[in-house]
Amino acid sequence: MRSIVLIAVILFHGFSISQEQTIIENISIVSPHLSGPMHNATVVITSGKITSIMSPDQVYKHQPNKQPQTLQRNIIDGEGLYLVPGIMDSHVHVSSIPGMGFGVEPVAQKHQELAEAYYQQQPASFLYHGVTQVLDPNPGLNWSRFTETSAHPDFFRCEVVASKNTFPLVEKNDELSKTMFTYLVDEQAGKNTENSPESIVQRIASSGATCIKLYFEDGYGNESYWPLLSDSTLKRIRTAATKYDLLVLAHANAVDMYEKAIEYDVDVIAHGLWNWNEFAKENDVPPQMATILDALREKSIGYMPTQRVIAGLGELMLENSHKATEFKKVTPKPLLEWYSQPEAHWFKDDMRQGFDGLPDEVIARIFLTGRINKGEKVMQMLNRKEHPILLGSDFPGSPSFANQPGLTTFLEMKAMANAGISLSDILEASTINNARQFKLQEHYGTVEEGKVANLLLLNQNPLETIDAWNDINQVILHGDVFERDSFAADKTGINGISINEE
Ligand SMILES: [Zn+2]
Repeated sequence: MRSIVLIAVILFHGFSISQEQTIIENISIVSPHLSGPMHNATVVITSGKITSIMSPDQVYKHQPNKQPQTLQRNIIDGEGLYLVPGIMDSHVHVSSIPGMGFGVEPVAQKHQELAEAYYQQQPASFLYHGVTQVLDPNPGLNWSRFTETSAHPDFFRCEVVASKNTFPLVEKNDELSKTMFTYLVDEQAGKNTENSPESIVQRIASSGATCIKLYFEDGYGNESYWPLLSDSTLKRIRTAATKYDLLVLAHANAVDMYEKAIEYDVDVIAHGLWNWNEFAKENDVPPQMATILDALREKSIGYMPTQRVIAGLGELMLENSHKATEFKKVTPKPLLEWYSQPEAHWFKDDMRQGFDGLPDEVIARIFLTGRINKGEKVMQMLNRKEHPILLGSDFPGSPSFANQPGLTTFLEMKAMANAGISLSDILEASTINNARQFKLQEHYGTVEEGKVANLLLLNQNPLETIDAWNDINQVILHGDVFERDSFAADKTGINGISINEE
């Protein structure tokens, strides 16, 4: 049985109302709105929402003898468990298959059955790791594969606005790759013409998107060879986005691109600041960069460290990175087996070419120590100044197979811990900060009455160890309760029951 939610009949003011109700008793609540765990609480979930939270003395008061007891309830004994909000990863790409790319690359075209197996498992893998909300800033062509599955995290998306002459279009040389981009702006077009910035933004708003993604990328690393959208186009997009209540996300990871993105008042910068350009030799954030980061703070622009992008590139260059045991829980077996084939190592070859034949271990170190370290320095500085950090992994970040769904989100949280971010700040980054930044705090981000019942029951206290986030007992999605292992790719521990059987 995949869900242990029972139908309960509640007699209320003389009317008979049929409702699904789950009651979690004796639970310790850990939520960013509380200063510490609330022990021995009772949480009532009705029709997918948290309808009541009671501390032990309130429970006593709220159980008068005369209450009609025809109620059938699904009761969970939360003794020894911790109830936390479900995780939100606000930077994932659900069309992109680790090791293959966005589904438009030749390997994905050739191995459609592997792509299919991946798309079927992916939402479950996020849920296996407690990720109950995702935001995809570049959803590509296959995002509906994600939302079509029977159980999936709540899905939010941005749509990319670019022109034929700017990144990422400028880098694509086959027609199939170009089809990924639906909203191509004509920078010369007058306000009311078809592909003007204003018309494009309006179309994106009516498609149901939450945000727009703009690329501030003039070349990888320190290079500068691609044009950006013009100043006037960027201003027109910003104005139109505000009008239609869309947030603007910026791809930027270099100092000069950060400066630009901040100048155009974007709402979130969706990558850590790893490329220090002329400051690359510095060990600490230099004053010039600190000034730029102060501007980011003053404008309340969201910061996503996305450390796993860098780690995913570095780990790819290590031998046998695809044989990590954690992958078995989140990656379909046939895809795991494919990673051992020479054909699956095409992106590794691309990387080698980019580094002029340096040994793999040296390339790995450039990422795993050098750039990771720079990202950590910036994260630490912002955290010291109490700027809220957002959990966004940019999964899978590249065609690297070192990043796998759900697991990468957990590893991104671990990367924050490695950078010295406190466990309570990591709790906030993974829940309420994302909810606030994306204007979803009415529904998500805390364990409070009125919010969507996307919750996790953990075996350990996440304010004591980061590993608590990988020690999940049950996942609650819109009030439905699932055993963690029911989402595993290998389904061990639940006698082979598939979540798709119902
Ligand atoms: Zn991304």
